[in-house]
Amino acid sequence: MQEKGNLSINSENILPIIKKWLYSDADIFVREMISNAADAITKMKKLSELGEAPQVPKDEEYSIHVTVSKDLRIIQFEDNGIGMTAEEIKQYITQIAFSGANEFLSKYKDKLDKDNEIIGHFGLGFYSAFMVADKVQIDSLSYIENSEPARWICEGGIEYELTESDRAQRGTLITLYIGEDGQDFLDHYKLKSVLTKYCSFIPVEIYLESSELKGDDDIDLDEHEHDHDHHDHDHHHGKKDPEKPKPVNDIHPLWLKPAGECSDEEYKSFYHKVFTDFSDPLFWIHLNMDYPFRLKGILFFPKLKHDLEYNEGQVKLYNNQVFIADNIKEVIPEFLLLLKGVIDCPDLPLNVSRSFLQNDGYVNKMSGYISKKVADKLNSLYKKERESYNKYWDDIAPFIKYGAIKDKDFYDKVKTSILYKTTTGDYLTLSEFVERNKDKSDKTVFYVTNEQQQAQYVKMFKDQGMEAVILATNLDGPYISYIEGYELDYRFNRIDSDLSKALKSEGEDSKKDKDSQDGLQELFRKVLDNKKLKVQTENLKSSSVSAVILLSEQSRRMREMSRMFSGMGGDSDAFEEDVTLVLNTANSLVQTLVNLKDDQSRAEDVELICKQLYDLAMMSHKPLPVEQMTQFIERSNKILERIAG
Ligand code: ADP
Repeated sequence: MQEKGNLSINSENILPIIKKWLYSDADIFVREMISNAADAITKMKKLSELGEAPQVPKDEEYSIHVTVSKDLRIIQFEDNGIGMTAEEIKQYITQIAFSGANEFLSKYKDKLDKDNEIIGHFGLGFYSAFMVADKVQIDSLSYIENSEPARWICEGGIEYELTESDRAQRGTLITLYIGEDGQDFLDHYKLKSVLTKYCSFIPVEIYLESSELKGDDDIDLDEHEHDHDHHDHDHHHGKKDPEKPKPVNDIHPLWLKPAGECSDEEYKSFYHKVFTDFSDPLFWIHLNMDYPFRLKGILFFPKLKHDLEYNEGQVKLYNNQVFIADNIKEVIPEFLLLLKGVIDCPDLPLNVSRSFLQNDGYVNKMSGYISKKVADKLNSLYKKERESYNKYWDDIAPFIKYGAIKDKDFYDKVKTSILYKTTTGDYLTLSEFVERNKDKSDKTVFYVTNEQQQAQYVKMFKDQGMEAVILATNLDGPYISYIEGYELDYRFNRIDSDLSKALKSEGEDSKKDKDSQDGLQELFRKVLDNKKLKVQTENLKSSSVSAVILLSEQSRRMREMSRMFSGMGGDSDAFEEDVTLVLNTANSLVQTLVNLKDDQSRAEDVELICKQLYDLAMMSHKPLPVEQMTQFIERSNKILERIAG
């Protein structure tokens, strides 16, 4: 048997084109070779089960062997699957693939952009071998009884050669003669990492070996200028593992096991292994769906690292245990990309093009299903394991808040399970918080963005048996604006934006009050040389507090927004104008000031007190600017000297 033919293709040469497109993702040739081999084995198993191949032993051990030789610049993939006859090679490899290529070319001639994910739609998987190889050889023996082994050789042009092979075992051996573009893959560890990336869960055992090439004598080295005698390569390399070789993959990934049969330990060790993260996940969701689409997987909620920014998630998408890609946001709701997990969806094409996914209703449903499952899990933890849920909260809050903002449906599903950490250290829902504090404040939720900075306000609250919620992350600002849009009953006010009624003593003489307030305002404006400063007196329940600064919630939000839009920008003048200095008339220093303020002989002391009071109040509101801080320190020294002197 000897046949020479031309690949039927109109284009000059499809291969350079394939190479060009796929260049950035050259490593997918490994996935394509391995998934073809695994398919061939799966078919063989099926046929054998069906009694279609009585000659194949029932207990046949199926496996895929990948062999690499750096010296010979060869990578081989061998399987004991169904194999192919010469006819089949002609049909499957030569004709179908190239007609696929033809169809592909005619369709995409005009827009040959770099959409490197399109190739699988056209049955071109096999040809990805040419991204790394100058020459590809197939040796195959079909499972069909009395078939002849066949060899196909193609050097990347449109010509191929189909001859007899000496292959004696059923199955296929693919030999890639690696060219310039594929050098990297000759490295054992590189190849192993690619196998790990794509093939960790392929349902057939895969063994990687170095330098033990199959069918040595037939390997044609002429054009493969190299100076070793290929028979002695074992002496150079032969790092034969004395132990029993281990497959690179796990053929029974945990996600395929029914959730009821998986132990916590199994989930944890799976997580450690797949995500090389040695901390334990907080909890996980085992996904399993058959209708209207098939989907299995596990989503893990990781423990947060210190900095959110470094907390990049990883959700791996598989198709029948073959890895497709990480973090495909069309399939997984964007906010869940902060999680870690695996999703296996047999109905997705192996080579997904993103534009295909975006427009696919099926994919949208999948994303909806996943976010519903996540919401269900959170609600069930909230209801059944409240204590653990409270403990998880700090770690999971960013996912949930981000998810709420991104997806109203998700927010609606989880809103009754959203918690707020309070200044008393509890974790409460909004309604629990409001219920618990209803005597002290109506539906205003006071919040703290920085416990240290706002410590004085927090203390005032605590002294009166009140609490505030802690909303300290960057996400919280947008988050509260978002939920205020839906939860019209609640108002969020930062703890330094207003004085809650509960902090003030009742029953004041308002006329006298107004007069002293005006007098003090005039005094402070003069001393501080700030004509716009607002001064207000209040009779607070805490007498230890002399003064506080208030900035209305609305002005602060406006300022934050304008800062966000104008880049950094620092503090604008608008901010200084808008603060109110509240003097506590229950405080003895303030009372002294009221008595001294018109005493000309004490004018210097009065000035010192005013400035110091103002700075102290300001300091518990925000860090002082450099200039103001310097003056504050100088003044403090002066006061101490006076006391000492
Ligand atoms: P696809 O796998 O998408 O059909 P490929 O180009 O990868 O496209 O392969 C074309 C066909 O060649 C396969 O469908 C299969 O019939 C056949 N084939 C490829 N590799 C093997 C193999 N290792 N064993 C048996 N058949 C194979």
